[in-house]
Amino acid sequence: MITERLNQLKGGLNPTISLVAVSKTKPAEQIMEAYQTGHRDFGENKVQELVQKYETLPSDIRWHMIGHLQSNKVKYIASFIHLIHSVDSLKILSVINKEAKKNNRCIDFLFQVKIAKEESKFGLSAEKLHEILHTKQMESFNNVRLAGLMGMASYSTDPIAVKKEFAQIKQLFDKLQSGILKNNPDFKILSTGMSHDYEHAIACGSTMVRIGSKIFGERIYSN
Ligand SMILES: *Cc1c(COP(=O)(O)O)cnc(C)c1O
Repeated sequence: MITERLNQLKGGLNPTISLVAVSKTKPAEQIMEAYQTGHRDFGENKVQELVQKYETLPSDIRWHMIGHLQSNKVKYIASFIHLIHSVDSLKILSVINKEAKKNNRCIDFLFQVKIAKEESKFGLSAEKLHEILHTKQMESFNNVRLAGLMGMASYSTDPIAVKKEFAQIKQLFDKLQSGILKNNPDFKILSTGMSHDYEHAIACGSTMVRIGSKIFGERIYSN
């Protein structure tokens, strides 16, 4: 099932769009099924689960942290994480920089921007992001690399509302790319779009989609 779903999804995606297969709550065997098709980018939203999977699964998997990250947990993923999508403060970024330095590496990250109306979604306002980009501290971080932006649209069935939010982050992305970040060639990822809205996200300039249930099936949460 996973193989078919993944191949079908990839067949419909322009090859310039990167796909992160979101494997949160899913067991190692299912991730291995996707891996066997040649897929290497997987996303998780909890540090403990991410570390467990990293330790048991093949070492050439590129792990993406897509969930909210707490300062005290950065140390567990700093040695191997491929891309952190969810940076939403200077404080967490300074911790990532410090832990990356300890591991003698440079960690790629995205700033998460809040585009959804819902209170529950994390992320920076455009104003706060500008403020951060203008700080001296930002320039002093030598072990992190700003690779783009991430955003999550409102969970809405109204395609116009959803597209408006994706268009808003795309506009911000373009403005930064041609403005304050014009000398930063690494700033090129726009991570938007999930199972239910990725087509709208792509229509609005997404370069990386994060898709879980459409590949692995619905998630079942139990406590
Ligand atoms: C769970 C999750 C996804 C994938 O969600 P699906 O609806 O299963 O595709 C994408 N991005 C983030 C940040 C997530 O937490």
